[in-house]
Amino acid sequence: MARRRIIAGNWKMNMTPSEAVKLVAELKDLVKNDDVDVVYCVPAIDIVPVVEAVKGTNVNVGAENFYIEDKGAFTGEISAPMLVDAGVKYVIMGHSERRDIFGENDILINAKVKKAFAAGLTPILCCGESLALRKAGTYKEWIERQITWDLSGVTADQVKNLVIAYEPIWAIGTGETATADQAEEVCAFIRELIAKLYDGATAEAVRIQYGGSMNASNAAELLSKPNIDGGLIGGASLKPDFGKIVNA
Ligand code: PEP
Repeated sequence: MARRRIIAGNWKMNMTPSEAVKLVAELKDLVKNDDVDVVYCVPAIDIVPVVEAVKGTNVNVGAENFYIEDKGAFTGEISAPMLVDAGVKYVIMGHSERRDIFGENDILINAKVKKAFAAGLTPILCCGESLALRKAGTYKEWIERQITWDLSGVTADQVKNLVIAYEPIWAIGTGETATADQAEEVCAFIRELIAKLYDGATAEAVRIQYGGSMNASNAAELLSKPNIDGGLIGGASLKPDFGKIVNA
């Protein structure tokens, strides 16, 4: 069964609510493509206006973060039930910026994967190596460790609906993309790992994105690779280029 492609924008800490609504309007006709899942992962404060703005279009809304408890004394956090009630379908977790700047570890990320599924959200689980690990040649071991921890106790049926984003840290926001062959090598490795941890059917079903300076010029080559089912896009998701990636 062919996997449905998924192109997701990660807006990061960009776009005020009014800028967000303007961007959605600008992209509206550019991202029309019924063969692809299109997702805007937006800052928490933009979720409600963006959900309203994409009504009647093919675009889904994702969150960039959440906390694993349903409610209570967790100042500054938002919960999975809040996201679901607001109309969110996807949520990013394990992004290198949250791991490195906010100290999130694989134990918390694993709890987030489980919580997201329990709440009815689709996790976009990020993994990827630093430049030092890439140069040392130990990047596959690193990614295997991240994914094995992050998916501990997650069922095969859940993994079939999971999105994994392979995002080499050295390619994020740097303008330096992994070559299509480098990206394919790791995405294929991740699929083999899922087969080892679960089974062949689960590995065939899980969707794996590449992320890291993907843009209108390099998207078609990256997306032509058999194990790359889509992209997680930072900088280029804030521009009309995003429409070209959706249609690449
Ligand atoms: C990201 O942070 O998820 C990302 C892929 O960023 P960029 O496309 O800007 O490299």
